[in-house]
Amino acid sequence: ELQFTSAIEVFMSYYPHVKKAIGASEKIFEYVDRKPQVPADGSLAPETLEGHLQFKNVTFTYPKRPETAVLKGFSLELKPGEITALVGPSGGGKSTCVSLLERFYEPQEGEILLDGNPLHSYQNQYLHRKIAVVSQEPVLFARSVKENIKYGREDATDEEIFRAAEMANAHKFIIDLPNGYSTDAGEKGGQVSGGQKQRIAIARALIGHPKILVLDDATSSLDTESEHLVHQALLKSSSRCAILLIAHRLSTVEKANHIIFLQGGEVLEEGSHAELLKKGGAYAQLVQKQNTAFQRNTEEGADREAA
Ligand code: ATP
Repeated sequence: ELQFTSAIEVFMSYYPHVKKAIGASEKIFEYVDRKPQVPADGSLAPETLEGHLQFKNVTFTYPKRPETAVLKGFSLELKPGEITALVGPSGGGKSTCVSLLERFYEPQEGEILLDGNPLHSYQNQYLHRKIAVVSQEPVLFARSVKENIKYGREDATDEEIFRAAEMANAHKFIIDLPNGYSTDAGEKGGQVSGGQKQRIAIARALIGHPKILVLDDATSSLDTESEHLVHQALLKSSSRCAILLIAHRLSTVEKANHIIFLQGGEVLEEGSHAELLKKGGAYAQLVQKQNTAFQRNTEEGADREAA
């Protein structure tokens, strides 16, 4: 039974969408519906991959909701060594981009290219290794921290595990855990915080030497210190791969090389943080709104303390 349980946990950790869906049964059927759509395996598995990813004029409609296009002529370019952030209002299509990257669906129009070749021409397993997705709430299974990281590549040496953890800003906290790398990371143990979990998941992703790292950023649940450490980890990792940051909160985005504001499935504006602020458009307004909300919260806090 133990083995069965951990097999499910491992499965879940690689399919965060399924985990999200557990609460809502109709979503499970959505997932089941997805399966036959993933096209046959391609044959490409080149030894060297640059990791240059492009969405070119992608239009996508969920089969269940044929009346609304969720992405409309969407284009994006990820370059090795750069962090690209997707921001924008809820429902804008950010997570859908990740689902397409994971090949849960195929776009109806346009194409997704990796080093110039259509994504579907690669072997699925190869893509799985080269495109690592760290979900909002990564699942760690009830094994040691070390085994959790090693799951990203079974033949990794200890040295490689430590290096990946270092890169993910996780090494320091891991060695301070009661049993260091041997500490049980199982959720029930509750030994690691949300931000620590995310950093272990980043280490697990990095150990497989991905060329593209997708981070669904859930920093709303992290404290400022944890958030900072996750961001530092991303900055470090970007020397090795292209990073796509799905940002639900703006503080994460400032350091990105390129920011894409996605609304209603279309790119409303794009550029660097400074460029977009200067432009004074939707992104600038969002930043302002968030700063105001932050100020109000701080003031309310101060008022409460004064009372
Ligand atoms: P958030 O910031 O809230 O996560 P998002 O920008 O990631 O939002 P998506 O989750 O990509 O947005 O959703 C884009 C649109 O697609 C929404 O209108 C959503 O209702 C719809 N949608 C998402 N998943 C499905 C699905 N499996 N079937 C049908 N429609 C879906």
